[in-house]
Amino acid sequence: MKTIVADRAVVLRTYEYGESSVVAVALTRAHGKLRFLAKGARRMSSPLRGVLLAGGVCETVFYYRTDGGLNLLTECGAADIPASSRDGLERLCIFQAGLEIVDRAAVGRDADERLFDIVEAFMRLVPSAVDPWALFFALEIAVLSIAGSFPSLDACSDCGKPLAGARLSVDPASGRVGCVSCGRGSGRTLSAASSAALVRLRRGGLREAGSAPLGGDERREIGGLLHRLFAGHVEGYRLPNALRLCKGVNGQ
Ligand SMILES: [Zn+2]
Repeated sequence: MKTIVADRAVVLRTYEYGESSVVAVALTRAHGKLRFLAKGARRMSSPLRGVLLAGGVCETVFYYRTDGGLNLLTECGAADIPASSRDGLERLCIFQAGLEIVDRAAVGRDADERLFDIVEAFMRLVPSAVDPWALFFALEIAVLSIAGSFPSLDACSDCGKPLAGARLSVDPASGRVGCVSCGRGSGRTLSAASSAALVRLRRGGLREAGSAPLGGDERREIGGLLHRLFAGHVEGYRLPNALRLCKGVNGQ
């Protein structure tokens, strides 16, 4: 069954299809992750030529298929992500890594408007973030939280003691977060600075995350922890290719 619908979409990646077409894997706001078929989009005369770019946001009109097949795209309003988001190799890597994270974490066709809004906010904030890594970590925390895979940072999961201001001991395999004395032996203890930064990133969300820079050690500790949480809880996760390109920038 096919119905024609309109929806806002973030293009996660594209690939060539057939002689002259393009398929775009996109996250839509109301219909989840979909594959769009842009028929003839590689022809010079096509109105869809050049409009489907990874990281672009478009207002789309398409024939929605409920059977999981390709959704024929009929309209795609121009992407409006500022060109400056492509400035600088590091920001480009982080921008691309964010798309990869979302592509892997968004499985099935369940629409989640929270996820869409977070991705769009991330893309808009990358160009101006004081520390784009902090912004990227906030995106990862938000994606894990939506999936129910980010631990509570309020109280020790073993003894119940409040964790405010304390160093955190984290067991990434189980997602358990506790106080240092309960975590002795099994967990990995974060430095005081990393513990505070993790709480700040969790509380402040994306909008605040990029405004305060992380130190190198915090970046390594938090980046490594989030990587292990993803590996333990998100099926099919692997380190984004884009991060491999950013050599030496964090310890993941
Ligand atoms: Zn405890």
